[in-house]
Amino acid sequence: MRRLLLCGLLGLPGLSHIQAQSLPVLSQNPPALRWQEVSTPHFRVLYSGALDSAAQRTAARLEQLHGPNVATLGVSPRPISVVLQSQTTVSNGFVTFLPRHAEFFTTPQQGLDLGTVDWLDGLAVHEYRHVGQFDKARQGIGRVLGPLLGDGALGVAAVGVPQWFFEGDAVGTETALTRSGRGRIPSFNVRLRANLLGGRRYSYQKAVNGSLRDHVPNWYVLGYFMTSYLKTHHGPSAWASVLDRYYRFPFYPFSFSNGIRRSTGLTVEQLYDRSMSEIDSTWRAQQAALPAATPVREPAGFGFRKSIHPIRIPAVRDRQHGPGSKNRAG
Ligand SMILES: [Zn+2]
Repeated sequence: MRRLLLCGLLGLPGLSHIQAQSLPVLSQNPPALRWQEVSTPHFRVLYSGALDSAAQRTAARLEQLHGPNVATLGVSPRPISVVLQSQTTVSNGFVTFLPRHAEFFTTPQQGLDLGTVDWLDGLAVHEYRHVGQFDKARQGIGRVLGPLLGDGALGVAAVGVPQWFFEGDAVGTETALTRSGRGRIPSFNVRLRANLLGGRRYSYQKAVNGSLRDHVPNWYVLGYFMTSYLKTHHGPSAWASVLDRYYRFPFYPFSFSNGIRRSTGLTVEQLYDRSMSEIDSTWRAQQAALPAATPVREPAGFGFRKSIHPIRIPAVRDRQHGPGSKNRAG
C-alpha cells in the first residue's frame, strides 16, 4: 500500500498501497499504549488495543503467504516483525529496512479502489511481496555489504531497482493471489486506457518520469502491465532471473535495464512498447465488442434558466445589511 519513498539508504519504505510519496510519520501513538504480540515461525505481529482477533488472523495469513507469495522470486525471507497501527485514520502500509519491519495501518480504505478483499488480507499479500523483493538483495553486493550495513545493505543494493518494478510486481501478486486486486479494478487503469484508446502513447522515459502537461500512468499502473507482460511471455520466474543478474553487481548506470536485456533479450524500452501494444490491442478488441453507445441528445426545448437558492445564505445577508445588522441570523 501505499508508499513510498526514498529508496535506498533511508530504507525504501516501501511501497504503500496508496500513492503518497513520503516517509510515514506516526506521532499519534500515545506512550501509554500497551503492546502485545502474536508469534509464528516467520512473523511477529505487534498490536495494541482490541486487535487480538485481527492480529491472530493477520499472523495466520502471513504464515500462509510465506512460501507462495514469494515463490516466483526464489527467496525464503527471514522472519520479520509486522506492526499493526491503529491510532491513525490513514489507510496504508509499508515495508522498510531500518529497522527491517513492516507496518499495516489497520483503518480500511473507504472505497473499492484497491480491491474488494479484506483490508488486512490485501495488505498482507501486497506488502509481503515487497519483503520478498528486498530479501532478493541478500546476494552479490548486498551480501558483501551485509556485515557492514546490516539490513541497510538491502536498501543500498536495491537503489537501482525502479519503483515501477516494486509496485507493479506487488500489484500483480495481489491480483494473482486474491479474488480481487487492483489488476481487476477498472478504475485502476482507466487513465492509461483512455490514453491508449485516444492514440496517446508516450515514450518510456515520459511514462516513468511523469509530466506536468499530460497525464501519464503512475508507477503502479505502468509497473503492473510491464511486470505482467514479462511474467506472461517469459515465465512467472522471469523477474527472479532479472533480479539475480542485477544484484550481482548493481552499481553502474542502467544495471537493472541490463538485467532485463540479458535475461529476456528485451531492452526496457522494448518491454514497455510491447506491454503497451498488447494491452492496447486487448482494450480495442473489448471496445469493438461493446454495443454501440446511445447518442446523447439534448431534450427539445431545453434551455438555461435561473434558479434561486431557497435559503438565504448568511454571508449574503451580511453583505446586504452589514456585520452588525439586526437582521443577521441569530
Ligand atoms: Zn506497494
